[in-house]
Amino acid sequence: MDENLKKEIENRRTFAIISHPDAGKTTLTEKFLLYGGAINTAGSVKGKANSKYAVSDWMGIEKERGISVTSSALQFNYEGYCINILDTPGHQDFSEDTYRTLMAADSAVMVIDASKGVEAQTIKLFKVCVMRHIPIFTFINKMDLEARDPYELLEEIENVLGIKTCPINWPIGSGKRFKGVYDRDTKKISMFQAVSVGGAKSAAETTYDLEDEAFKSEVGDELYDQLMDDVELLDGASEPFDQDLVDKGELSPVFFGSALTTFGIETFLEHFLKMTESPLPRMSDIGLIDPITEPFSGFVFKIQANMNKAHHDRIAFMRVCSGKFDATKDVFHVQSGKKMKLSRPQQIMAQDRKVIDEAYAGDVIGVFDPGIFSIGDTICTPGKKFTYEGIPTFAPEHFCRLVALDSMKRKQFMKGVTQIAQEGAIQIFQDYNLEMSEIIVGVVGTLQFDVLKYRMENEYSCDVRLEPLPYGHIRWVKDPATDLNSIKCPSDTKKVKDMKGNPLILFTNEWSIRLLLERNEGIELTEFKKN
Ligand code: GDP
Repeated sequence: MDENLKKEIENRRTFAIISHPDAGKTTLTEKFLLYGGAINTAGSVKGKANSKYAVSDWMGIEKERGISVTSSALQFNYEGYCINILDTPGHQDFSEDTYRTLMAADSAVMVIDASKGVEAQTIKLFKVCVMRHIPIFTFINKMDLEARDPYELLEEIENVLGIKTCPINWPIGSGKRFKGVYDRDTKKISMFQAVSVGGAKSAAETTYDLEDEAFKSEVGDELYDQLMDDVELLDGASEPFDQDLVDKGELSPVFFGSALTTFGIETFLEHFLKMTESPLPRMSDIGLIDPITEPFSGFVFKIQANMNKAHHDRIAFMRVCSGKFDATKDVFHVQSGKKMKLSRPQQIMAQDRKVIDEAYAGDVIGVFDPGIFSIGDTICTPGKKFTYEGIPTFAPEHFCRLVALDSMKRKQFMKGVTQIAQEGAIQIFQDYNLEMSEIIVGVVGTLQFDVLKYRMENEYSCDVRLEPLPYGHIRWVKDPATDLNSIKCPSDTKKVKDMKGNPLILFTNEWSIRLLLERNEGIELTEFKKN
């Protein structure tokens, strides 16, 4: 056994941060990087200001397209660990990529705004984490602002998301009266002290014992008594910490803090690193692949096309799942059956993209893709041949009819739309009963519509029009042999098929889905399609 390789892999932690826009994901990421010494000042990670770029700017980002921090992985070192944070873009650039990124993560950190609680986008992303049974950690952020009652927040997480919670620390007040957090394990209190936004890593925190008179007088009787009650209640009534349940994604350790003021970040990181595992074996068609004993292998979870017309290149992002990647050695692309060297492998460290010559299980690398890779492809060491479990196709939520303005360009039109669909940014469907009919495009995030139009016009010289359709839900019929014409569909639905002929139904609302299920006994519909 190569001891160095074992150590490298065991020290790796790969997680994704999920949140609803504005909860503080960017700020938290930035603070992690500050701790890791990967950046020197806050504000270096592309934040809200520039991630909300207008579509037009986005189109023009040949400069670093695909490599922007907002859409990839960041690596930093902390206390001997090598940490990979996978970013899940929010806002309007929310897309299927966001879901797929979770396929590459070993655990997830869910950031929740303490004044808002569980929000829409958190729910969507959370569902994917649950599907994968990965550990989910909760960071309740913005305690320096008026927050909702902490019990109420935990209850909401448990009820809305259906996961048990175990507070690791507990807040003392919030907003102007925020005094700090009580660590339930060490039974110590860290007093809140705001650090300027872009400033030092952390302020020297004052810590007290629960019984300390100085602490009592600093927080005042009311908050002190409240804390004593809380401590008693939590110890008696809250879910006990259980690492096994955390590993299975059934119990979420909860932390309270304030990312902007760098409060609670270090404690979080320390507990998190202890409670998470290094990369685990992954399922393939020949069984579990061990990250340490097996030679190099990985899978592609995301492909980003370069928006620059002059270079039709694409970057394939790959999660290394076993062994060590060595850029000088040949690899085997299972789906094409070809041996090759991966060109220009790169990794992202804070803002810098650097060409790398090695990577280990747990890491994410971006490689130049001359158009051979597809989402879900397996890359392994020559001589080995297996495929990792596919990445599911997620349900799009926005639909448009795509019309070619010049009917003479049908061939070009089909080529463009098919290729873009292969990259995974959009999904395309056709009417169930009509051959050569209109093309219906479904996307997870609406920004993809603009990208599609732009690319059809610029890369395929096809002017197109997108006509919005009223559907918001799609379901695959579980048995692909089902004849949709035999199904009684409510009037506000549409029967379609994907390019492989699989039957699907578009719905305008959830209610209509229920109606269809009631009317057609025995039919099974699915929201994710396993590939
Ligand atoms: P994202 O959309 O989840 O990436 O959220 P950002 O990290 O961009 O944060 C959204 C806004 O909330 C920004 O204006 C941040 O400065 C602010 N913010 C983030 N964390 C905190 C916090 O702990 N306290 C306060 N007061 N503001 C915060």
